[in-house]
Amino acid sequence: MTLKKQALIKDKAFVDGQWISATDEFSVTNPYDGSELVKVADLSPEQVTSAIGAAHKAFSGWKNKTAGERSELLMKWYQLMMDNQQALGELLTEEQGKPLAEAKGEIAYGASFVKWFAEEALRVYGDTIPGPSPDNRIMVLKQPVGVVTAITPWNFPNAMIARKAAAALAAGCTFVVKPASETPLSALAMAELAHQAGIPAGVFNVVTSTDSKGVGKVLTQDDRVRKFTFTGSTEVGKTLIKQCADTVKKVSMELGGNAPFMVFDDADLDAAVEGLMASKFRNAGQTCICANRVLVQDSVYDAFKAKLLERVKVLEMGNGLDDGVTIGPLINSAALEKVAKLVKDSVAQGAKIEVGGEPADDESLFFEPTVLSNVGPDMPLSCNEIFGPVVPLIPFKDEKQAIELANDTDFGLASYFYARDIGRIWRVSEGLDYGIVGVNEGAISNAAAPFGGMKQSGFGREGSKYGLDDYLEIKYLALGGL
Ligand code: ADP
Repeated sequence: MTLKKQALIKDKAFVDGQWISATDEFSVTNPYDGSELVKVADLSPEQVTSAIGAAHKAFSGWKNKTAGERSELLMKWYQLMMDNQQALGELLTEEQGKPLAEAKGEIAYGASFVKWFAEEALRVYGDTIPGPSPDNRIMVLKQPVGVVTAITPWNFPNAMIARKAAAALAAGCTFVVKPASETPLSALAMAELAHQAGIPAGVFNVVTSTDSKGVGKVLTQDDRVRKFTFTGSTEVGKTLIKQCADTVKKVSMELGGNAPFMVFDDADLDAAVEGLMASKFRNAGQTCICANRVLVQDSVYDAFKAKLLERVKVLEMGNGLDDGVTIGPLINSAALEKVAKLVKDSVAQGAKIEVGGEPADDESLFFEPTVLSNVGPDMPLSCNEIFGPVVPLIPFKDEKQAIELANDTDFGLASYFYARDIGRIWRVSEGLDYGIVGVNEGAISNAAAPFGGMKQSGFGREGSKYGLDDYLEIKYLALGGL
């Protein structure tokens, strides 16, 4: 069923199957031109505590539905998301800035997790294990952990919620999410569709608020919450892990990255450029799996750079709703200033701008698609998550040095390399300390694959057959007297 776009634009939070208002409101703006889209209810921490109460109350009913019943409701939610892909995509572009084709791609990507976990809901198998004596058996059951709370970022306003909520609901958990205050509209539209799909009151709740710290405390400290899941920066993630410690919650963290993208001398350079364009410039470089350090072997460095520059020069900045636009604005002025400073400070240390290098103008939030050569592994662009449309090209000599440079970071989310030699492909794949390795592939996200990081990029996996584990408890039954 396709709804009118207006029916998907909500200005209240969604708690216990109701749209609720608050004393205060906050403004949601379009990063393309700063225009106000809508004012949304700014919930207090007390109201968020009530939302947890609603999720807690709804838990036993949801848990006790059959897996088939939960699966059918999730399938309806999936179908509604796909039926409304155009309107959801437009709304996402308006609040977030990414080009419409990408926004619609995100809706399909988010929905694919709802479908995937609707199917996985049916396959929560246990085990029977031989017992220690003839009249004993060991049985293993898997049961939902309970109320799950989540905090999600602005760069994927639909998919970061769908990945978590679909798994939680499939497992039989109830869910309360605080979306980033920059992008609450996609989350609220998802709530409307969950409601239309018939997902019961209290099972999926969206709490909108600008009080990140106050609400963050409630979501991580209320003892009725059994699991907390976060996608965002490593710095905030560390605080939230600590906050979860007092009530010993299960925790999943999808934190920052510093993805290496390596091009070896035996690589197909055209394919490598293609992969880099997909990995680097999606969402104007604002993803945690974007290539951050592009390491290129000396002997192919100039050839790779020339091919890359041809492609980067034709990227088109503009309003994501307009045809042909491939690069949207950055999310806010702090993001723009951060990217500009990383470029400026690296240039001061010897990096050379090949194209771009500046904010597009004084008023907007656009940063020019940029390539820099001569970048050193210790320069600011190499040591920080850039989160902008900037490619630093770092030369390397041999495979050993490439792996050392790639692993020389606290992060371990995504990595990429291009090579053809099968021995090298194994050695490098096994040598990289990363949760995800794209081998001759720049587009790595898929509901069937386990997404997640090592080191300070976090723990837990989203999507795939492993994705339900984070939302399930394992219960061991010791059967005696048989
Ligand atoms: P990003 O760089 O992607 O904005 P953040 O970690 O700053 O990453 O934000 C991700 C999410 O965490 C957002 O929803 C934001 O509102 C929330 N957040 C930021 N600071 C805190 C905090 N101290 N406690 C709880 N949530 C926070």
